[in-house]
Amino acid sequence: MQNVAHINESESEKIQWVTLTTVTLFHVMALVALFYFSWSNLLAALVTWWIAGSWGIGMGYHRLLTHRGFKAPKWLEYFLSFCGTLGLQSGAINWVTTHRLHHAFTETDEDPHSPHNGTYWAHMGWIFRGKAQNQDEATQLRYAPDLMKDKVHVWMSNYYWVTPIVAAVILYYIGGFSMVLWGVFLRQVIGWHSTWLVNSATHLWGSRRFETRDDSRNNGLIAALTFGEGWHNNHHAHPRSAKHGLTWYEFDVNWLQIKFLEKIGLVSDVYGYEIEKQVQAEPFQEAA
Ligand SMILES: [Zn+2]
Ligand SMILES: [Zn+2]
Repeated sequence: MQNVAHINESESEKIQWVTLTTVTLFHVMALVALFYFSWSNLLAALVTWWIAGSWGIGMGYHRLLTHRGFKAPKWLEYFLSFCGTLGLQSGAINWVTTHRLHHAFTETDEDPHSPHNGTYWAHMGWIFRGKAQNQDEATQLRYAPDLMKDKVHVWMSNYYWVTPIVAAVILYYIGGFSMVLWGVFLRQVIGWHSTWLVNSATHLWGSRRFETRDDSRNNGLIAALTFGEGWHNNHHAHPRSAKHGLTWYEFDVNWLQIKFLEKIGLVSDVYGYEIEKQVQAEPFQEAA
């Protein structure tokens, strides 16, 4: 079987210097940002975090593009994907390929970021080594053929790094360099760690509603940081469900927003797993 597991030794060990340098620089600038607090800078960080993390990564890259939990018109799909590029987690094609590999091979050596290979590795080590975040074309074609066929997605995936630069220029003109420090650098570092915590923490700490074959957990703290993505055990049990928080206390901002988009007629065929109905219908099937 041709997949990412068949990379040769040297490729799997290769250090991704551009990624390592960029992430290090962003962390330094995020520390500098702490000396330039203002309410407007905080607001800039919160708004860009919401756009990138919720609309882009959570609703766009994850629930729509990777798992197709709802249907959206092309313009909205591109818009959500564009919001995702602000999150600087590579383009949609690499993101979706990596994430589909994660679901297909969870907690095995083919999983791009399993804590079985170390907590640090699952959190951020995996983006600095090998090609888990920069797969070759054959792997992309195999795991994200739907997106590879779409020229707009291919183009946006190639130039995803332009969006944060444009955002920096806009924020500079609105609020000066201190707003860039908050709205780009600090927000980016918080956004990265929030997403990375889904890969590390929610495969280590939290509760398990479903006896899935992986170690996924539901973690309210991570869900709060990721607009609902932290209900990760629910998600691994029912990957296609656009609804990750399954009870009233499992707050899921991304799901509420998808329901809102459905209500105003922008998205359709929204699939949300309903725990009550399932429990009544098949009381002993939960662990399946
Ligand atoms: Zn997972
Ligand atoms: Zn997923």
